[in-house]
Amino acid sequence: MKRTIKKVAVIGSGIMGSGIACHFANIGVEVLLLDIVPRELTEAEAKKGLTLESKIVRNRLVNDSLANSLKSKPSPIYSQKFASRITTGNTTDDMAKIAGVDWIIEVVVERLDVKKLVFEQIEKFRKPGTLVTSNTSGIPIHFMSEGRSEDFQKHFCGTHFFNPARYLKLFEIIPGPHTSTEVLDFLTVYGEKFLGKTSVVAKDTPAFIGNRIGIYGIQSLFHLVQEMGLTIEEVDKLTGPVIGRPKSATFRTVDVVGLDTLVHVANGIYENCPTDEQHDLFKLPTFVSKMMENKWLGSKTGQGFYKKE
Ligand code: NAD
Repeated sequence: MKRTIKKVAVIGSGIMGSGIACHFANIGVEVLLLDIVPRELTEAEAKKGLTLESKIVRNRLVNDSLANSLKSKPSPIYSQKFASRITTGNTTDDMAKIAGVDWIIEVVVERLDVKKLVFEQIEKFRKPGTLVTSNTSGIPIHFMSEGRSEDFQKHFCGTHFFNPARYLKLFEIIPGPHTSTEVLDFLTVYGEKFLGKTSVVAKDTPAFIGNRIGIYGIQSLFHLVQEMGLTIEEVDKLTGPVIGRPKSATFRTVDVVGLDTLVHVANGIYENCPTDEQHDLFKLPTFVSKMMENKWLGSKTGQGFYKKE
């Protein structure tokens, strides 16, 4: 079968969904960007007699979707020039539109229960043969596809974009137990040739490759901070520009990623790898649990390890 990707649906327009939508729009692919948050006309738009389909409103909705997740101005990877390639909508009213796309990418919160409900919804509307992938940071792929049809499972796998989706090159492709070779081969080539990434096929183990290593490093630092009384600034000074990472010192990175996402991944490894030699390392230190309670999740809530200026 010869596949082409003319239109993708991205479900979830948070930090990653909006970035992935922009990346596809930038390379010329039409995007349907859906989220649970319903879209609405503003009072002023309604007064002017505009509809949700009018261009001015669509452009605002695209901007809102992106800005909402970033709680500031749209991401620098978004270009107004490509706005018309992104159509936004909500999963309550617009899910049926996914019948017209070639690839559906799930990018909702890192929770198995929420993702499973989204796949149930997707299955109602997707055309047989359509690719469905998850951008999960670490939930085992076989948990997510459980209970879905044979056709769904054959065309389902993980496609893990890293943050920011436009710039980071690693593109992990994680097959489930029934993913077809045709799908894996297609995504591997598509990732390299069209998305400009380095495709790596990873085994379906908790947090795959990139995050199993990444979370190990971050959790080690969390524990060191607690045990040795290090400050956030000290750690960032030592793990930033001085070691050749100009923009990615540890705690700055955690603020960009979102503490909730990181915690879900660490908890996933803790729960699913009970015999791992480093098991205790994936337990959350108390200061991280406290930050979660206070909703200090990083840029998305305006406060994380740093306060958003
Ligand atoms: P986020 O919190 O910024 O956004 C999640 C979005 O999902 C929100 O806009 C929310 O409204 C939406 N949502 C929640 N329930 C929904 C539903 N039932 N239907 C439709 N939309 C729903 O999260 P994020 O950082 O964009 O992460 C999304 C996924 O990408 C997660 O699986 C995460 O692990 C993964 N990921 C995140 C990063 C990162 O750096 N943040 C990197 C790689 C992968």
